[in-house]
Amino acid sequence: MREAPPVLTEFHIGIDDTDSRLAGCTTYTAALLFQELVSQGFKPLDFPWLVRLNPNIPWKTRGNGALSLHLSMEDGRLEEVKKIAVAAVERTSDLNQRATDPAVVFLKGLISNSLREFSARALHDILSVREARQIAKDAGAEAHLLKGSRGLVGALASVGADLDHDHTFEIIAYRTHEYIRSVRKVSQNSVRLMNEMYQGSTFNNVDPETGRILICPHGPDPVLFGIRGENPVVLTEAFNQVDVGEPIERVMIFKTNQGTDAHLNCPRTVQALRPYQSAIIAGKVGDAPRRIRGGHVIFGTIDETGTIDCAAYSTTGDVRDIALQLIPGDSVAVSGGIRPRPLGELTLNIERLKVTRLVDAIRWENPPCSKCGARCESMGKGQGFRCRRCKLRFPRTIRIRKLDGRTIRLGEYLPPPRAHRHLTKPACRYGISLPRSPEKHNLATKQTLESLVLIPRAA
Ligand code: ATP
Repeated sequence: MREAPPVLTEFHIGIDDTDSRLAGCTTYTAALLFQELVSQGFKPLDFPWLVRLNPNIPWKTRGNGALSLHLSMEDGRLEEVKKIAVAAVERTSDLNQRATDPAVVFLKGLISNSLREFSARALHDILSVREARQIAKDAGAEAHLLKGSRGLVGALASVGADLDHDHTFEIIAYRTHEYIRSVRKVSQNSVRLMNEMYQGSTFNNVDPETGRILICPHGPDPVLFGIRGENPVVLTEAFNQVDVGEPIERVMIFKTNQGTDAHLNCPRTVQALRPYQSAIIAGKVGDAPRRIRGGHVIFGTIDETGTIDCAAYSTTGDVRDIALQLIPGDSVAVSGGIRPRPLGELTLNIERLKVTRLVDAIRWENPPCSKCGARCESMGKGQGFRCRRCKLRFPRTIRIRKLDGRTIRLGEYLPPPRAHRHLTKPACRYGISLPRSPEKHNLATKQTLESLVLIPRAA
């Protein structure tokens, strides 16, 4: 008699908070673990997920990234996988730093709706560890915490993330240990060339205004460079165009919510805003924009519940320039992070500015004297006019209404790529129709997953 095929179960692993500003990177932990599991015969259901969460969390290390792996496997091997995963996290965590609280979450079976909802909120809210514990308990997830418990929020949220709809990919090359503290040896010319060749299918390689290379981080983490784009196969081709002058320890492709604006899909009212949320406020410009020290621009946005100061920093380029041209009464949708100021008031730091309606820019001119034609002078605030020469007086109602032409256009304005957050949807991705077709996704997954996860690369 033939043996019955083994019953396979979905098994999910979430990881977060393994790194510090001085060492490590949670993507590296996930790459290492993924490659170890694949080399031991475990079957991934997808690329590892690099899930960026609320970028306004004050205690994040860099880009608030959490990672999850998704496998299909026999129940009998679950304990083995857990052991491998915990060992990989222990090996790669920077436990010496106070703020590093590594967490690994294991979840067998389908993702519950409450976990999905928790993950969605982790993109734009601050969530408590207490809630994370409850969600983990309800979902039947097992948590392994190496130190404190803060990492649980991100580890759990990455498991329940929604990457079925919009998503992108990033191919990341990691450095060998000996090179970690040296300047990254990546040929800038080859990156520029790669950028030209793969424009449209990759994004944020080079800042167009300054020519700055954006694919290399600058800190002491193990990432040598990462290329972001739409398709894993094209990303490997782009990757092979980059000339590198140091050994590459490993390469991994991640499926990710980077470049999707996933954190900016939550319209809120001014009254409901809380510190460190990501939010969209639709309203009217209240106070006229003012320029402050450093070249930043501040203006008030009013909705039916209140007013909030919105800040367009000088680094936001176009966004700052457009903000300066707004006038009271214009309609806008401002998206960004909510920051508390010292006295408790809130400011929205603009990441995306949509101008939806422009009012007429009206200028009032003093009338000419009806006798001599000279320009009259005002007799004071709210008063009428008088001609200096003829001494004639005129009522205020005869002042002349002029319309100033406005150069600003309706539309959506973004900062330049050098000022983007990981989640910012770049201009080149606007118009990419969503959701993606499932066939396309499956094809990319089936054909490339096995061959791409362990890309050999000579130094
Ligand atoms: P890197 O991007 O370099 O991997 P990071 O910027 O992701 O680092 P972490 O070291 O992971 O920073 O720290 C972020 C911490 O914030 C984690 O402990 C995570 O669990 C927690 N966290 C993430 N999102 C939220 C959220 N929405 N609410 C509360 N805590 C969160």
